[in-house]
Amino acid sequence: MPPRTNAKKAKKAKKAKKAKKAEANAEDKANAKIQAEADDTMPSFDVDESVAAAVLAHVSSPRDRLALACVSPVWKNAVTSEGAWGTCDLVLDGELGKRLTDERFGRLLCYCGDVKHLEVCDAPAAEFEGNFLSDEGIAAKFASLESLKLTNCSGVDCTCVVDLMEAIDMAARPKDKRLRCLHLAGCVLAEMEFTDIETLNECLTADRDDMFYLEQGEKSVPSVIRVQNKANLDLWWSECERVVPTSEVKICNICKSVFCDSCAEGSFCDGCGEFICSECDFDDRFEVSCHGCGDTFCEECIISEEKINICRGGTCSDKEGTDKRCFKAYCEPCRKKEKVFYGMCAECFGVWCSDCAYDKDGPNLNVCFGQGGCYKPMCGPCAEKTNQFYTFCFDCNEAWCPDCDPGVEFYPHFSDLDGPFLCPTCAETQFSARD
Ligand SMILES: [Zn+2]
Ligand SMILES: [Zn+2]
Ligand SMILES: [Zn+2]
Ligand SMILES: [Zn+2]
Ligand SMILES: [Zn+2]
Ligand SMILES: [Zn+2]
Ligand SMILES: [Zn+2]
Ligand SMILES: [Zn+2]
Repeated sequence: MPPRTNAKKAKKAKKAKKAKKAEANAEDKANAKIQAEADDTMPSFDVDESVAAAVLAHVSSPRDRLALACVSPVWKNAVTSEGAWGTCDLVLDGELGKRLTDERFGRLLCYCGDVKHLEVCDAPAAEFEGNFLSDEGIAAKFASLESLKLTNCSGVDCTCVVDLMEAIDMAARPKDKRLRCLHLAGCVLAEMEFTDIETLNECLTADRDDMFYLEQGEKSVPSVIRVQNKANLDLWWSECERVVPTSEVKICNICKSVFCDSCAEGSFCDGCGEFICSECDFDDRFEVSCHGCGDTFCEECIISEEKINICRGGTCSDKEGTDKRCFKAYCEPCRKKEKVFYGMCAECFGVWCSDCAYDKDGPNLNVCFGQGGCYKPMCGPCAEKTNQFYTFCFDCNEAWCPDCDPGVEFYPHFSDLDGPFLCPTCAETQFSARD
C-alpha cells in the first residue's frame, strides 16, 4: 500500500521539519540573547527554559554550564535539573578540581545524563574521597563510560574505582566497548592487590600487556618511554608485590619484569630510559658513561649519536693503521658545557673528538665547510680510498669536498706567499692587490 506509506513518510518528514524549525528558532533566540548580552544593551540574560536548554546543549564545559546557572533562576533550573547535561564529558580540572567535594561531585553527576569521559584533577584529599563511586544507581551514570582519569586525587582509594568497575560491569562489555584509558596516578594505592590490577586490566579495550608486547617487535623504542606514552592503564604490579604508578616503574626490556624505582636493580639508560634487570644483564653489554656527569647510555643511544658521543674511531681507519681514538664520551649537555666537539666520517661512520681527529696520528677529518659547501665530513683514509680529495684555501682557510670545490688552484708565482692554494675569490683579491 504505497499511498499510506507515503502519507506516513510525509507526516514524519513534516514533524521532523517542525522539530528542526523549533530547534532552529530556539537556537536563533539563544544566539540573539547571547549577542544581546555581549552588546551589553540588555540588563539581564532572561530567557525561557526551552531557550536555556538549547543554549545548554551547545555549552560543553562544566565550568561554563555552572556559570550559566548563576545568571538567573530560569538558567539555574535549566542547568541543574536532573540529567540536563545529557550524555557528556565531565572534566573537572583547574579551579573546579581544586574546589571539588564529594557532595559537589554528587550534584554534578546528578545534572549529567550519563558520563562518557570522566576526568578529575587535583581534588583536595580531605574533601574528595570518591564516595559517589559506590552510590546506588551509579551504573546508569556510567553506562557508556569510555575513559576515566583521576589525576592527583589523593583522597580517592583506587579500590573504590575497582568497585565502580565491578558495579558497572565494565569487564562484561564487549571488548571494544570497554575503557580506552584508565589513569589513576596520585590516588591511594596502599590497599590495592594483584587481583585488583587484573580486574582493571580486564576493563580495557586493549589489554595493556598485549599492546606492550606487540610493540616490542619494533625494538628500537625502549620500553619505559613507550609505557609512559601509551599505557592505557597507568598502574603496575611490581616484583616487590605492590602497585606502582607508571612514573615510578622500571620494566626490563628483555624479560618484561616490572619493578618499582627502589627495587629495580640492573642497568638503566639515562638517554632513553631503557632498563635491563640484573637477571637479564649480561657482562659484555655495551654501555657508556658520560665523562662529564656520569650518566650511562645504552648501545642504541650511542649508535643514534643524539644523546651521547664517543670518540670511538672508525673501521676504515682501523685497517689503515691510524687507530687514534680516546673513547672519551660526553652527553649532549656536557658536550656544550665542556666545549668538546665530535666529528663523524660520512664514509666509514667513524667518530672522533676534535683532539683525536686532528692529532698527528689522527684520521685528519675533512669537512666541506667552505662557502657553498655541503658539510660532508670524511676521514683521511676514506678520502684516499675513494679518491675524494678535499681542497683547502690558504688565505680564507676554508675547505671543500671535490663536488663543491669552487676551483681552488695552486699559485706558484706568488713566491712571497710560498706558493699557496687559493680559492677563486681569494685569488682575485690577490691579483687585484698586485696590479
Ligand atoms: Zn629482565
Ligand atoms: Zn619494588
Ligand atoms: Zn638508551
Ligand atoms: Zn654528561
Ligand atoms: Zn678522542
Ligand atoms: Zn672514514
Ligand atoms: Zn661538499
Ligand atoms: Zn679562499
